Order: sequence, then structure tokens, then C-alpha cells
Amino acid sequence: MKKVSIITGGAKGIGAAIGYKLGKQGYSIAIADIDENAGKYRENQFRNEGIDSIFIRTDVSSENDVSNLVERVYEKYGRIDVLINNAGIGFSGKSIEEQTLEEWKRIIDTNLTGVWLCSKYVVKYMKNSGGVIINIASTRAFQSEPNTEPYSASKGGVIALTHSLAVSLSKYNIRVISISPGWIDTSKWQVPPKESYLSGLDHGQHLTKRVGKPEDIASLVSFLVSEDASWISGVNFTVDGGMTVKMIYID
Ligand code: NAD
Repeated sequence: MKKVSIITGGAKGIGAAIGYKLGKQGYSIAIADIDENAGKYRENQFRNEGIDSIFIRTDVSSENDVSNLVERVYEKYGRIDVLINNAGIGFSGKSIEEQTLEEWKRIIDTNLTGVWLCSKYVVKYMKNSGGVIINIASTRAFQSEPNTEPYSASKGGVIALTHSLAVSLSKYNIRVISISPGWIDTSKWQVPPKESYLSGLDHGQHLTKRVGKPEDIASLVSFLVSEDASWISGVNFTVDGGMTVKMIYID
């Protein structure tokens, strides 16, 4: 019987790359995304590629949506092995004085409460057979530029939540891990008509001399959900081309 993974925000970017990678490894993929068009497009693309997939329109900040998602996936497949909490939104870049409580709540609700909600609802179906929960955080949790407060706080919260969940759920053989990507070239960075506004300078900031691709995160996920990673839980992995350890210097 195929293993089953729910991927929130799985219609685009990092989530879509994770879905593709796990799908090609034989997982059935449940794409949970707020974007109906992108979700249906991805479901079709996966099916054309021979990946068993289902799209379920979900707003991860809505308890009703999340409960419906988990019930429908279990009803269809009879198991849930992996949850990838990937859905997330960025920040406006406005100063703290200009940020609104509405923006703060929207970011926290999506990026942090969504992770808590999805984790809470899958436990019921993971606890008898074990499983893996992977939470996508960000290097912004521990390295900041000005005006990222709601986003940075949400991602710092995701890392702390990961630790707490890992401890609570170990009795069910559920491993919980977070990944903090650096700059990954996804739609987040794309401003039409340019393909991407990341410049040569942005690439040069990395020890690897390039920004990340969604597949760089998918590769790590594929390892972490495997039996080869069965001793790994309650930890955060930074995947950022070495950017956060690099000191700024002038030579
Ligand atoms: P993306 O915008 O390409 O994809 C995010 C997906 O999440 C979209 O399909 C979107 O529709 C979906 N989504 C947004 N709000 C949702 C909601 N309430 N419910 C369900 N789905 C929702 O972004 P991405 O770059 O692929 O980012 C994926 C994750 O990685 C996010 O959590 C983001 O914060 C994190 N991240 C990205 C980068 C980067 O540089 N791209 C860096 C660090 C962390």
C-alpha cells in the first residue's frame, strides 16, 4: 500500500517540488492549498506524470478546512504517513509603526497557527502507525533585516513548536523536524514581467554562489521522511547555501 503525504501550500514553489519528489518515490500526494486554480493545475500535472494525487482546497488557518482536509485524505487513502507544513505567506516590508494588527494576525494565523492546526488534526490518524511531520520555517527566524517582525516571529514560533511537538509525539513514533530555507527562487521572488528579481549580487552572497531552488529543499525532505533518518527528530536544518554563516567583509 502506497504511503500518503499531505503537503500544505503544495500547489506552487517549494511545496510543489516536495510533492513531485515524494510522488516520484511512490507516495500518494494530497495537495492542500488555498489557491484553487494552482491546486487543480498541480493535481493534473502530477497525474500526467504518473503521481497519484488529490487537490483539496484548504486555508490552513481555518479549523474547518483543516479538519475537512484530514478527514477527506484519510477517507480516500486509509492512512496518513507524512505531513509537510509548508504553506506560508511573506511580509509587507512596512516599518513596525506602519504594520497593522491585521497583517500581524494574517501572517501568524497562516504561518504558525496553520502548522499547529494541521499537526493537531493528523495525530489522530498517525498515532497508531507512526509518521513524520516536517515544518518549513525560515532563516528569518534567526537572521533579520529591518521590518520582518510578523514573518520572523511566525517562523521562530514554527521552530519552537517543532521542538514541543517532537517531544509530545515521540510516544506515538511521530518524528517532527523543521527546515529553515534561505533564499529559494520561487514565485515569492518573481515580479512580472521579470522572471525573478534576484540579482547576481544575491547569488554571490551564498557560499554556493547561487540562491536555492525548490528542489534543494525537496531533496532534504525526501531523506528526512525515509527510514535512513529514523533517528532524527526535534531539530532544525538550515538549508541556505551557507548564507547565514558567512560574515560580511570587504576584501
Ligand atoms: P510560494 O508563494 O511559491 O508558495 C506558497 C504556497 O502556499 C502557495 O501555493 C500559496 O497559495 C499557499 N498558501 C498561502 N497561504 C495559504 C493558506 N492560508 N492555506 C493554504 N495554502 C496557502 O512560496 P514558497 O517560496 O514556495 O514558500 C513555501 C514555504 O517556504 C513558506 O512557508 C515560506 O515562508 C517558506 N520559505 C520560503 C523561502 C523562499 O525564499 N522562497 C525562504 C524561507 C522560507
